[in-house]
Amino acid sequence: MSHPDVKFDAFWRGISYLRQVRRLALSPLMIDVIDDGGLANYHHHREICTWIGENIQAVNATLTDYLDACHQCFALCDRPAIQIFATPLAEQFGIDGLCNIFVNPIAILIDVGRTSPNHWLGIVAHEYAHACVGDVGHGEQFAKILTHLCLGLGLDLPIWEPETMEAWLSNYPHCQLMIDPLAFWFGQPYNPDFSQVSYTS
Ligand SMILES: [Zn+2]
Repeated sequence: MSHPDVKFDAFWRGISYLRQVRRLALSPLMIDVIDDGGLANYHHHREICTWIGENIQAVNATLTDYLDACHQCFALCDRPAIQIFATPLAEQFGIDGLCNIFVNPIAILIDVGRTSPNHWLGIVAHEYAHACVGDVGHGEQFAKILTHLCLGLGLDLPIWEPETMEAWLSNYPHCQLMIDPLAFWFGQPYNPDFSQVSYTS
């Protein structure tokens, strides 16, 4: 068991990390775990922020590897400047990742708790495609870049009907969603029995 001071330091490291991430979100409301939510949520808030303070560097190192893998699919001059961070994203937004093209470098935020780890690369590729196109839509240009990334990364290629392209590509690659997205952020190991197949991302 850690000394209370060590836990306290980790908690404040977690808070300061989440404040930094909140500045990169499309809305501050997206990073709601930073607010203690009154007494009811206070215990959750403390535990999650402490876990983040202790572990976020390792999680971000994995995401940075995936970002580098996406970069490798393009010539140096075609690679957008991107920063990437893992963070819990507020449930109400129902998303597992976002790409903020309005900051420089472009920021990709991924809620790695919402999907099983074998889907993280696909989510990074989806957001990377937004960064390349410089747009939040899922049109022809987005499809072209995402297909190129899927080819390079060995992911299944997107196949869509023209009428449903926007909706279909908006959550491609399809992911397995975790039933309890916050479990990861409490430090619980990934358990495939607690996930469900879903087409929401
Ligand atoms: Zn998208």
